[in-house]
Amino acid sequence: MSVSVRDALRMAALYVVLSILWLVLAQVLLQGMTDDPLALTVGQQINVVIWVLFSAVLIFVSRARLLNFIGIGVRLRGEDRERLRMAAAVFDSTLEGVLVTDRQGLIVHVNRAFMRITGYQQDEVVGQRPNKFKSGRHGVAFYQQIFATLAEKGEWSGEIWNRRKSGEIYPQWQTIRAIHDDAGELSHYVAVFSDISAIKHTEQELAYLAHHDPLTGLPNRLLFTDRVEQALVTAQANKRGCGLLLLDLDHFQSINDGLGHTIGDQLLKLVGERLGEVVGSGVTLARLGGDEFGVLAENCQQVGQAGKLAQRIIERMREPFVFDGHRLFISVSVGIGLFPSDALSAEQLLRNADSALFKAKSSGRACYALYTEELTAHAQHRVETAGELRRALEQDELRAYFQPVHDLATAKRVGVETLVRWQHPQRGLVPPSEFIPIAERTGLIAEIDAWVLRQACRQMVQWQREGRQMAFVAVNISSRLFGQHALYRQVAEVLHETGLDPALLELEVTESAVMEDPEVALEQLHRLRELGVTLAIDDFGTGYSSLLRLKRLPVQKLKIDQGFVAGLPHDDDDIAIVRVIIALARSMGMQVHAEGIEQQEQASFLLQEQCQLGQGYWFGRPVPAGDLDWE
Ligand code: C2E
Ligand code: MG
Ligand code: MG
Repeated sequence: MSVSVRDALRMAALYVVLSILWLVLAQVLLQGMTDDPLALTVGQQINVVIWVLFSAVLIFVSRARLLNFIGIGVRLRGEDRERLRMAAAVFDSTLEGVLVTDRQGLIVHVNRAFMRITGYQQDEVVGQRPNKFKSGRHGVAFYQQIFATLAEKGEWSGEIWNRRKSGEIYPQWQTIRAIHDDAGELSHYVAVFSDISAIKHTEQELAYLAHHDPLTGLPNRLLFTDRVEQALVTAQANKRGCGLLLLDLDHFQSINDGLGHTIGDQLLKLVGERLGEVVGSGVTLARLGGDEFGVLAENCQQVGQAGKLAQRIIERMREPFVFDGHRLFISVSVGIGLFPSDALSAEQLLRNADSALFKAKSSGRACYALYTEELTAHAQHRVETAGELRRALEQDELRAYFQPVHDLATAKRVGVETLVRWQHPQRGLVPPSEFIPIAERTGLIAEIDAWVLRQACRQMVQWQREGRQMAFVAVNISSRLFGQHALYRQVAEVLHETGLDPALLELEVTESAVMEDPEVALEQLHRLRELGVTLAIDDFGTGYSSLLRLKRLPVQKLKIDQGFVAGLPHDDDDIAIVRVIIALARSMGMQVHAEGIEQQEQASFLLQEQCQLGQGYWFGRPVPAGDLDWE
């Protein structure tokens, strides 16, 4: 229950009137007794005092009835007083600013938070109108709408910009309420508000973060896609063309893995800055994630223009990045999509540029490629296969096949190489060449290789148990996984889980994977070697090994690529190459293993040249574990 100012005044007036009445009455009484009140006896004076006190107590006790009598329906019990005190404390200590006006809109009270937020003291605003704080940001209609809502609903809430005493304008979240007295008449307005400038600021920051990449400060994929959409609308209206370039750094992963993410991040930042310099202003440059950047060239009429821009980017990226004592070289592949010739929507354009990028990557990297129709079909096939591959893993459609490896001198089988197959429900047995590159691009290769590794180890343990002795089971490791630290852990886990003796496991890594980043490879191979497994370089002769580096690698075996074996024993070039590889391996204390042996004379030639191991259709094709012969 609250007491309005008007009521308080009425109460005070009542006390004053009653007191005056009483004094007059007491005077009359005293005068009735004697002309000189000072002449009263002590007994009479005590009686008068008692009478006065008694009457005062009576008035106090019956004050509620008296107040009721004069129309103030309040009972200020102790409880009410307590509540009032609490309300006053809340009013003054709340963080929200509070402003009370009378029904005419003149300020009658403000709290401490009001003074803190606005910078005005109470005496500077009492008696004034709240329009003193107007920011000028809202028009007349805005305020009219507030009053209309107040009149209709008795309450209004919303964001409103006001001005502080300092002149600064700031946003408030304000709730205004119309207060009515017991008779239902409008008596006051109370406005409660909070300063939301801090929130607004955070909102702006959040909006910025949502649309920008924190590392480079460039627009992110979300903003880029939005810009592409807008650009297409404008281009369509103006009958102009647009070019969309997707850029991907080549072998960036090896920098991250080899030098750490901090260096990787610094490099990405510098790449962003350099790209900014190349493309110049008026062209949207974005970091789409990881090592992928996007460039949107509006007003790009011809293919040639986009191609030239791509070439400029590729060339500038070839220059070394020098920072913190590092001198790093990186190349970039670019895929180009054009509007309106290639695609009509932003989504399609992005997809096409991505296909073109894939083409650029597949054709040797550090180059650019354009999107064409035929690429779309290729991309679609890839997308379909990628989707199906996931299902293949889930539904156990992969198969581990084993191809025998023979000792050329004794013609005995000494080991097997595990080769993956996909038992596709419609397409039948799919060879790895059709899905491994897709798995590598989509990242599924990690799961596939882990699965093959586990199968191979399990199978080898089973053969051991059955007394079927072999010196090794070989497993291929994708170049995509080879650079990653997780590989070591994965191999260790599988060995532990299956209980296979590490000496019986051989890991094959292609020559190109090793030479892509020899330093990382060296570290990785050492770690794997520590596990006790044997290491082989697959498809040897197809990469560009540096002999010096090869010598430092902890590798026990070189596998001569089948391309050189095919020409044996007649092709002079192949003969020369095979001889060199065998000599090289032997000089470095490595075993030599020839693959792709299809005829007996190839095997004889290789044995004569002192190649130790042989694999190929001549000895046996890759087959399921159950189909291997055991004499
Ligand atoms: P690779 O590791 O060099 O495997 C040898 C390939 O040569 C196998 O092809 C094998 O079937 C084939 N081959 C064996 N003997 C002969 C022969 O006498 N004549 C001919 N023409 N070919 C022969 P496949 O199984 O199609 O595998 C192809 C490649 O796919 C493999 O080359 C390997 O790089 C990759 N691959 C296979 N399985 C896996 C796997 O589980 N993980 C990874 N990452 N890659 C795998
Ligand atoms: Mg292999
Ligand atoms: Mg091979």
